[in-house]
Amino acid sequence: KKNLLEIRDLTVEYHTNGGVVHAVNGLNLEVAPKETLGFVGETGAGKTTTALSILNLLPHPQGKVISGSIKYNGEEILNKSNKDMTRIRGEKISMIFQDPMTSLNPVMTVGDQIAEGIRLHDHLSKADAHKKALEMLKTVGIRPERASDYPHQFSGGMKQRVVIAIALACNPELLIADEPTTALDVTIQAQMLELMKGLKDQYDTSMIMITHDLGIVAEICDKVAIMYAGNVVEYGDKVDIFTPEKPHHPYTVGLFDSIPDIYHEQEELKIIKGLTPDPTDLPSGCTFHPRCPYACEKCSKQMPKHLEVEPGHTISCHRFDDTKEVK
Ligand code: SF4
Repeated sequence: KKNLLEIRDLTVEYHTNGGVVHAVNGLNLEVAPKETLGFVGETGAGKTTTALSILNLLPHPQGKVISGSIKYNGEEILNKSNKDMTRIRGEKISMIFQDPMTSLNPVMTVGDQIAEGIRLHDHLSKADAHKKALEMLKTVGIRPERASDYPHQFSGGMKQRVVIAIALACNPELLIADEPTTALDVTIQAQMLELMKGLKDQYDTSMIMITHDLGIVAEICDKVAIMYAGNVVEYGDKVDIFTPEKPHHPYTVGLFDSIPDIYHEQEELKIIKGLTPDPTDLPSGCTFHPRCPYACEKCSKQMPKHLEVEPGHTISCHRFDDTKEVK
């Protein structure tokens, strides 16, 4: 199956007064058409930076892609012009941010905001674009009469629905959702996930769901990439990642052990010891070694390779060094 998105050896840095932040360090990732990839890791693992790199939206001038390649539909997008990237963002790849107000214009009615994107994309007349905007509002469960309201007249959950309507109005091939439900309360979160799942199926959109919530991954994703210190440490089908008996990266094991299990009584929650590494001063070798219960001498000296432990399931850890290396 041909990939829609293919990232190879991506390295991204931020140059700040506090030093060079190594946000993404040689990351490999792919997304197939119609697939939903869960991109999981703690804050600061490089998830959002990866997303911003795909869209060419890294903060300027601090953020910079140092090396690597991002291919979209087989075409390198890292060296596209700003004009081309604006077009790609309008037509092919949309992003939903955590805080809906980042993407909404406070002085424009929500109907006009949805219609604006549609007009640019579909070259429709103002009236037709407005009609389609009303349909989009209905699709995300908002009464079309509310098209003439402004963002501040909506609750947090409703604002995020508007953002989703804007993101989907242009029929993107790839939707990147960055913690889209984190700012919402729990009941609304569940509704939003249902809505996104439904819309994704309806529109055949591929999706990257950035989250630190394994419950969301279980709910909505096909594939999972576990991210640690700017790299993917484990990648595979959701079923493989969620099956405890399968081989796993020690960090993945730690992540799953730290979720409360409501079905089984547990002695205590295991927390991964130590802190996430300082991205201006990453540990040598395997970046997880200061926190890893299995670390051996080699771990602090040598960066582990991506190894295929079973078809389509890769882990980057020296414990699996006798398995096949993948690129
Ligand atoms: Fe732990 Fe070593 Fe594997 Fe890193 S390479 S996760 S330190 S065992």
